Amino acid sequence: MTQFTDLGLAKPLLKALADEGYVNPTPIQAQAIPGVMAGRDLLGIAQTGTGKTAAFALPILHRLAEDRRPAPRRSARVLVLSPTRELATQIAESFKAYGRHLGLSVAVIFGGVKYGPQMRALAGGVDVLVATPGRLIDHLQEKSVVLEGVETFVLDEADQMLDMGFIVPIRRIVKFLPKRRQNLFFSATMPAEIEKLTGEILNPNPLKVTVTPPSTTVERINQRVLFVEQQRKRALLAELFDDASFKRVIVFTRTKRGADRVARGLEQVGVEAASIHGDKSQGQRERALAAFKAGDVRALVATDIAARGIDIDAVSHVVQFELPNVPEAYVHRIGRTARAGADGSAVAFCADDERNLLKDIEKVTKQRIPNFDRRNDRHLGAATAALPDTGGKPERSERSAQPHRQGHQKKPNRNHSQGKPGHRPQGGPARTEAGGGERPAFKGPRRGGGQRSGGGRSGGGSRSGVWSNH
Ligand code: AMP
Repeated sequence: MTQFTDLGLAKPLLKALADEGYVNPTPIQAQAIPGVMAGRDLLGIAQTGTGKTAAFALPILHRLAEDRRPAPRRSARVLVLSPTRELATQIAESFKAYGRHLGLSVAVIFGGVKYGPQMRALAGGVDVLVATPGRLIDHLQEKSVVLEGVETFVLDEADQMLDMGFIVPIRRIVKFLPKRRQNLFFSATMPAEIEKLTGEILNPNPLKVTVTPPSTTVERINQRVLFVEQQRKRALLAELFDDASFKRVIVFTRTKRGADRVARGLEQVGVEAASIHGDKSQGQRERALAAFKAGDVRALVATDIAARGIDIDAVSHVVQFELPNVPEAYVHRIGRTARAGADGSAVAFCADDERNLLKDIEKVTKQRIPNFDRRNDRHLGAATAALPDTGGKPERSERSAQPHRQGHQKKPNRNHSQGKPGHRPQGGPARTEAGGGERPAFKGPRRGGGQRSGGGRSGGGSRSGVWSNH
């Protein structure tokens, strides 16, 4: 098996990888790093969780270290575009962690925060700039950022950019880049519009690496669909939390208002919950994420866009309060659990009017999602009392509804299985049963590197929306 030491990376990078405890590159890293180190363009078809960030950050840092020169003023040697603020922050943190022994500078800029600190951080130039497209365009228009000096351009999560309407801004940004440059292009899926964009951005004959088709992640996740009337969903969700195994749960809703409503509903029954979505301020989003990572809230209620790309380990369950309109989003949602090779559980609520969405999801994922079966799904705790018992038989078709793994079975909690909808037998705060003082580790790159200008809160990002380590 390939080891990082086989790839010819600069010594300070190997030291940082050893600090992280990484020995073997993931498949995308093993396939991408040598070519990118040699200066080739890359088309990576990969989603988060595959190690794609290090697959581009390591060879980029290597090239910067091998060819040291001052960063151009109001500019950067490397530009990384990310669709969301959270992902931008995570990427910058990865660069900082892997580059901690190299003394390079990294800055991140995104919207929703003041311009001044970002302008100041960029004035003298930085080695690596991670940005979201909207705010970068603002800076380009103000000429507080120029892109002539960029040597390497990374476009991350291109399909998410498309979903968020960023394709036009990206085309505008690319026009500011010098013609001669290295391009690294990542997307989890390849819709036609993205395929077209690859042709516009990449140099001819890029290195192509495809890893982890969605089904691989899908297979590691214990999935269930629960058929439930729309108006019973909130009570059912509360009941799920009666089971102590629902330790750290991301709940997906279709709308921002829905996310707030669901979070409030959980709080009302004693489950600590926070919501994140596009209408929340940067500070609110950071605080919610930090509290979730620290285990202070059991439930993070999120919309798709807010949650995409967030890398939080040890998410025990993903609950889809509503099914997504786009079937691919189902795969991204359940991928929030089962991170870093771990198993995870995903529960999808399906009301009558969502059955067509479920069919589409099953078509795209080429699987049948087993429906709830009282005998085998006792780990769902109190929920078992409230759901129709299908007796393990398929409710919707002739095919088997047997679960494809047994690993999550637990003895039923009698208290819970007697529970009435909305009734919480334990009464007390759910947090104690959820592991109390235990603080599950965030397994992303450790933040040993430089200082943030925005204060030392955990959870990524700074209030000013910019930090750098010179
Ligand atoms: P990504 O796909 O970039 O979001 O990475 C997913 C997770 O895997 C992150 O928490 C990384 O810190 C972690 N990771 C990346 N590369 C490795 C590796 N070679 N060995 C172990 N963990 C890794």
